[in-house]
Amino acid sequence: MCEITIQINCPYCHSMKVVKNGVKCTGKQNFLCRSCRKQFQHSYQKAGCRPAVKRLVLRLLVRNSGIRDIEEVTGVHRQTVLRWLNQKAHSLQVSPRQQGYGQVQLDEVWTFVKERKKRKRWLFYAYAPETDEGLAWSWGTRSRHTVRRLYRQLEQLEIDCFCTDDWPAFTKVLPPEKHLIGKAYTRNIEGVNLCLRTRNRRIARKTACFSKIEQNHYNAMKLIFYYRNHHTL
Ligand SMILES: [Zn+2]
Repeated sequence: MCEITIQINCPYCHSMKVVKNGVKCTGKQNFLCRSCRKQFQHSYQKAGCRPAVKRLVLRLLVRNSGIRDIEEVTGVHRQTVLRWLNQKAHSLQVSPRQQGYGQVQLDEVWTFVKERKKRKRWLFYAYAPETDEGLAWSWGTRSRHTVRRLYRQLEQLEIDCFCTDDWPAFTKVLPPEKHLIGKAYTRNIEGVNLCLRTRNRRIARKTACFSKIEQNHYNAMKLIFYYRNHHTL
């Protein structure tokens, strides 16, 4: 007879202070981490219950993987993937790192939910090249109302100048003394547009992986912005 000893570490904080904590209804031993107080099992029947798989799914969401691709690769049901997407986006707070910025560039990107031509959702956002940071964004039509909602979020910051292309909605909202117009001033944000389209399958120009539900669409973009600013999730 041979005896194998398995050292169990907490999958969340990697602590070794782990104790047995009853048996689950499936007959599997349950463990408790004394450091972070989280419970876990040594092995799980369903892929979606494994803590490491959840981290992988969230990373795939911000690295251009469609929901069905993630389901196929990780074995987690697509409804679970969407639930995690919404939960994570809900828990994240995207806020500017600084109180003041020299130059902020604003631009708009078209996206769509469900039907390509009829249901366009314009994303207006502000980008600070000095910190490589997405500061704020707003969703809506390609009108001054959406620009105004974006500008309201920027009002509390000290910004020296706003750079945009010559779309008239910007001129109607932004203060003229701080407004610079021209493609030469928005080169950085044009590059970010490309990056956003490359990292998020939902807003790629020609794709079958589009959003069907508005909230999922907005939350997926929030995740992308957070990941761009902080390089982690
Ligand atoms: Zn722990």
